[in-house]
Amino acid sequence: MSKGAAADPHDTLYQTAQAVLPGGVSSSIRFNKALGRPFYIARGEGAYLYDLEGREYVDLLTSHGATLLGHNHPGIKAAIEQALQCGIVCSSETPAQSRVAAALAEMVPCIDMVRFTCSGTEATMHAIRLAREYTGRDTIIKFDGHFHGLHDYVMWNYGGWSPAGAAEAGGPAGAPRPVARSGGIPAGIADYVLVLPCNDLEAVRRALWLHGHEIAAVILEPIHYNAGCIIPPKDYLHGLRELTREYGVALIFDEILSAFRTGPGCAQAYFNVTPDLCTIGKCVAGGTPLSVFGGRREIMEHLRPLGNAEHSGTYNAHLIPIMAAEVCLREIRKPGFYDHLYALADRLYPGMNAIFLRRRFPARLQGLGARFGLYFGFTDEVQNYRDTARQDTALALRFFRGMVERGVYFCDAGGKPMHHGFSAAHTLADVDRVLQATEDTVTALLSSR
Ligand code: PLP
Repeated sequence: MSKGAAADPHDTLYQTAQAVLPGGVSSSIRFNKALGRPFYIARGEGAYLYDLEGREYVDLLTSHGATLLGHNHPGIKAAIEQALQCGIVCSSETPAQSRVAAALAEMVPCIDMVRFTCSGTEATMHAIRLAREYTGRDTIIKFDGHFHGLHDYVMWNYGGWSPAGAAEAGGPAGAPRPVARSGGIPAGIADYVLVLPCNDLEAVRRALWLHGHEIAAVILEPIHYNAGCIIPPKDYLHGLRELTREYGVALIFDEILSAFRTGPGCAQAYFNVTPDLCTIGKCVAGGTPLSVFGGRREIMEHLRPLGNAEHSGTYNAHLIPIMAAEVCLREIRKPGFYDHLYALADRLYPGMNAIFLRRRFPARLQGLGARFGLYFGFTDEVQNYRDTARQDTALALRFFRGMVERGVYFCDAGGKPMHHGFSAAHTLADVDRVLQATEDTVTALLSSR
């Protein structure tokens, strides 16, 4: 820093934060490798984030998908204010929980009943426990690369977010071996988790033929957004539905991320495949902390006090997110909501790919509904999680840094494939800003090679 020049407040905050927050962050992924520090913001409004110096960014993180309505939505704010009027109620039932549950049952095909949790991690944990209690079996099947939160039963074989950026493959692609994605997970948990290759129906058929009587649940991301955006092959989900039914295994769609991206009925309505249970999170409550697990009445009635599966928690269904969810679900069902999202997608997705292609820049966008992945070092379609290990992470980081410098914010995920997305508050003009920034960033990167 030259003498007399003011320190960058973002760097200063990072210095301070590191003394009291490990790595200077409250969540590992918030360390932004492209910037060498977290991306600090002072506030969000609609489609934009503002940094500590008031600079505006088009937000393509959208709170990892939680703010599908955009930041500071007036309806969500009003709902929160209404909840505050009731006295910051938690740990008590009010009429609002049943109203939100009824709305979800109306919208989402598999849902007869729901329970609420604070996070997606809790939702998948409870859905799995419930499936185990319901079936009387212990083992679950998860798929290579699929992410279901941060509890021990699911933290196996996905990209991981270590600052080192390692995505160690677990065994051969066709026969993955379980690799824990964090220290501190007892190796013995692997005995209860069968990791199978993704989108390989024959592997599932074989596993169920051999172990079907031990398998409580098959859990999956119906759209593999946590590897960017990989859409399952036609008939794969239908095949899974048939196989799990045949073996009495609970089929769980983890829609924490895919919920409401493609329509009000989530991915299960989009693909016309109804699981036994699903989890819903992120955007369900307009950016406030609420997640859901729900499904068939016959299974859900195994929860206490009716059955023997435990699910309880001080903050479950806190009135602030519950009232926010009521508004959010109403907004999502308004006519034209998805027309707008698809109009944005139809401009952004081909627009970015056209730039990459025209400039011979080795990158590719894959998207469905309101979320998309960016792959660097690729020109052909990415069809499998294992393909993503070929990501050119250095190029990804340079691209994301270039975009931030031009007023567009992406989560960098250490350069690994990751989902990005927009909200209903974004406009076609915002998309055009993103496309211009892409053009300029690509120009800068190509000329600096
Ligand atoms: N499941 C999926 C598919 C997710 O994408 C996530 C989070 O990104 C989770 C579960 C965990 O949700 P949370 O971060 O709310 O614990």
